[in-house]
Amino acid sequence: MTVITFHGGVGEIGGNKFIVEDGDTRILMDFGMSFSHEGKFFAEFVNARGSNYLNDMFALGILPKIKGLYRRDYARHMGFDGREDTAFDAVLLTHAHVDHCAYIPYLREDIPIYCSEESNLIMRNFDETSTSQYITMKEKFRVKHNEKSGKYTRASGEETEIPRRIEVRRPRDKFSIGSIDVEMLPVDHSIPGVCALLLHTSSGTLANTGDLRFNGRRKMDTDGFVDRCAESDLDLLLCEGTRVDVERSLTEADVETRVSRVLDATRELAVCTYPVRDLDRLLSIYNAAVASNRHLVISLNQANLLDLFDRSEHTKGMYPSPTDKNVRIYLPRGSWSLIDKDPGDFPDMLPGDYGRLWQRRFLDYSNAIDYRHVRDNQRDLVFFCSDFTLQDLIDVRPNPGSSYVRSSTEPFNEEMNLSSARIMNWLVHFGLLKEGGKLEHFHISGHGDGPQIKGVIDGTRPKKLVPIHTEHPEYHQKWHKKTEVVKNGDSVAL
Ligand SMILES: [Zn+2]
Repeated sequence: MTVITFHGGVGEIGGNKFIVEDGDTRILMDFGMSFSHEGKFFAEFVNARGSNYLNDMFALGILPKIKGLYRRDYARHMGFDGREDTAFDAVLLTHAHVDHCAYIPYLREDIPIYCSEESNLIMRNFDETSTSQYITMKEKFRVKHNEKSGKYTRASGEETEIPRRIEVRRPRDKFSIGSIDVEMLPVDHSIPGVCALLLHTSSGTLANTGDLRFNGRRKMDTDGFVDRCAESDLDLLLCEGTRVDVERSLTEADVETRVSRVLDATRELAVCTYPVRDLDRLLSIYNAAVASNRHLVISLNQANLLDLFDRSEHTKGMYPSPTDKNVRIYLPRGSWSLIDKDPGDFPDMLPGDYGRLWQRRFLDYSNAIDYRHVRDNQRDLVFFCSDFTLQDLIDVRPNPGSSYVRSSTEPFNEEMNLSSARIMNWLVHFGLLKEGGKLEHFHISGHGDGPQIKGVIDGTRPKKLVPIHTEHPEYHQKWHKKTEVVKNGDSVAL
């Protein structure tokens, strides 16, 4: 018998954590964060305590209390064993959005993670540009003995690094994990490298849609997934339903066209924001910029991500490289803001103004610019300005006749602590929006609308359906007569 247990991602959008058990084989599908669950207890200044992380998360019911699942250094330190063998054979990661992957850094380092090259690169970018530990775990709570002084200290740095087992799989690869044959099938979504999962177990076949849509640049992939399920005699479909209550969607091509129109009508600087890791969206903005004879100015973080994609043989050429002739890389002010100071007063100190090595690397790029270039070449640029870097507008000083395009998730994102009113204040202050004016907002979601999700259910022809990643399971119930609505902690057998 095969049993699927749900530890998040049901009755809510995101937080997917599904365990599949087939005899001795035990697989985890995604290990993501539930914003709604974390948000119930945590906010900017109230978080799980690092020294008691697992116990805090167990106590609040945010993470499932399962032995052999979590990193051994944490488990040992928090009195949750840590010496036992892991009972998990693999993590199958559908994609690198945090509501599917955010807790991977807390997993045991010896559980292999199967994912696409794109997901691997996005997690690598997280590690390089923040303190996350997706690809390389840094062992905590380890004591080091200093021979000379005879004292004990905390181990740190390279001596604590343990690489995780990342198993990159190509689109449509088939492979076995214990008794389960796995197919990772590419689908269209708002981040590169998303895979739906098709599992052939000893008691039947099940599919997990992950997150999918049909109106981005990879509709054919999602169609291919539906067709493959249809020919697989599907016993169970775990089907997302983020936007089942929505009737109709724009396409990524519509976004590109509409942004193009705004750029054509803009006399001075075009300021825009879009999700940093949605590289298909970056491509839309890039295409629109090139069509209107402008260079796209990207952030350091985005330059690092594009560089990773450019250096991988699997993804080279998919997106603009950071040295593309139409791309400029924006150098923000460093900790002492030496970028506009006389180098004679601070000899050789510019690199040190940027705390991280990955940032310093871009100082030498010939297409790296700072605010003075943006201020002096407004007609020639599309300037990426996120909600977290609005202060750059103080330096850039958009001229009258500049515009602002918002091309990210809903007008304002709930994860952000900045209120929408505050962002509006910035835009109005810098003449990018009239007082009480309407934002130019062009965006398509990463999720299929109601008719499209119904199409997935009809097309895959599952014998049984479980709604996931949705607050509206009643739509699935309406569309499939054998729908089982489950809650956290429930199991379904094949
Ligand atoms: Zn997603």
